[in-house]
Amino acid sequence: MLNKLNVEGLDVKGKRVLVRCDFNVPLNEKLEITDDTRITGAMPTIKYLADNGAKVILCSHMGKPKGNPVPELSLAPVAKSISKKLGKEVVFAPDDTVVGDNAKKAVSEMADGDVVLLENTRYRAEETKNVDAFSEELALLADLFVNDAFGTAHRAHCSNVGVTKYVKPAAAGYLIEKEIQFLGNAVNAPVRPLVAVLGGSKVSSKISVIENLLKKVDKLIIGGGMAYTFFAAQGKTTGTSLLEPDYIEYAKKMLEEAGDKIVLPVDTVVAEKFDNDAPSKVVEGNIPDGFMGLDIGPKSIELFKSVLKDAKTVVWNGPMGVFEMPNFANGTNEIAAMLAELDAKTIIGGGDSVAAVNQAGLGDKMSHISTGGGASMEFLEGKDLPGIVALTDAE
Ligand code: AMP
Repeated sequence: MLNKLNVEGLDVKGKRVLVRCDFNVPLNEKLEITDDTRITGAMPTIKYLADNGAKVILCSHMGKPKGNPVPELSLAPVAKSISKKLGKEVVFAPDDTVVGDNAKKAVSEMADGDVVLLENTRYRAEETKNVDAFSEELALLADLFVNDAFGTAHRAHCSNVGVTKYVKPAAAGYLIEKEIQFLGNAVNAPVRPLVAVLGGSKVSSKISVIENLLKKVDKLIIGGGMAYTFFAAQGKTTGTSLLEPDYIEYAKKMLEEAGDKIVLPVDTVVAEKFDNDAPSKVVEGNIPDGFMGLDIGPKSIELFKSVLKDAKTVVWNGPMGVFEMPNFANGTNEIAAMLAELDAKTIIGGGDSVAAVNQAGLGDKMSHISTGGGASMEFLEGKDLPGIVALTDAE
């Protein structure tokens, strides 16, 4: 599926290999890592390179230091975490300029199999502007390049795209390869029926996803706040629910074109206030004045389940309701539980649905949980990701 060189296609022994990872992990006030999923995700590539005698130079961004050395966003805690997982010391190079004296010295002293971690690449203002000078500085540290940061693959920055101008070949790491394989196969070469489940707040932010997926799926289930703009397109009242009036015509057009491919909720859990403790009731069809839809109702859950039960591939992006409030999380949890039981490839792409699946404790029951919110969205939109395009083509 991935027609790019992968890490196993490189001759790495004794070579300095610069690896762009996604170590953008959350920290608490004590600067301890509170969720190391992304570090764990990068370990197969790091281990492979170290075990095969490469000199492994890791780099990543963390948070948004906006071109300044912000001590709270230093990658120092990440070096400790990788050291533990790898069972050997990772040397951290704490340069405010990322490629400074510490980094150069650390790299010059590396033996085969050693691992060095550079400081947060976004300490440099050039990083997000993809300025050649910083790309070249990074590239000069290395003989080969590997990109394993799927989470930033939809951005063209120095450390994932610019650098490939100056250090070749540039290969995909295992994590990127896995993401492209799962997302790519699901959308472009799926075992059918392929059902997509879209939710979340806005139609406007998911137009390209809807358009691209409608061309590929057998059924498109739409829940969450975005469903109400489709309700309005069907001529239903929506009370005080989320609504994007500017997109009602668009939703009408989509419904006309897609016919019964689009499956909408048939009932709604409504309340008078956007509040977990607000009294709620279930309504069918129209949403009455003064009420807002906050979750899909029981009949919709059954309808969605009846569509999902025969699916062989499911792609899910966006919650079915306000899942952050326990009283309105039922629809989202029920869909998560259904997918967990399904004999199908289940791919969870995007921030909030990943949070919902993990909140329900069902993460390990899915075939694949994408590590990149924005990147997986753009992939589902059918866009090329610059971080992948920039890699060397496979022979
Ligand atoms: P998105 O980032 O577009 O995927 O939207 C995710 C957000 O949509 C979550 O924070 C949900 O709480 C919110 N959401 C889902 N359903 C509704 C709804 N019926 N009303 C308001 N917000 C919703």
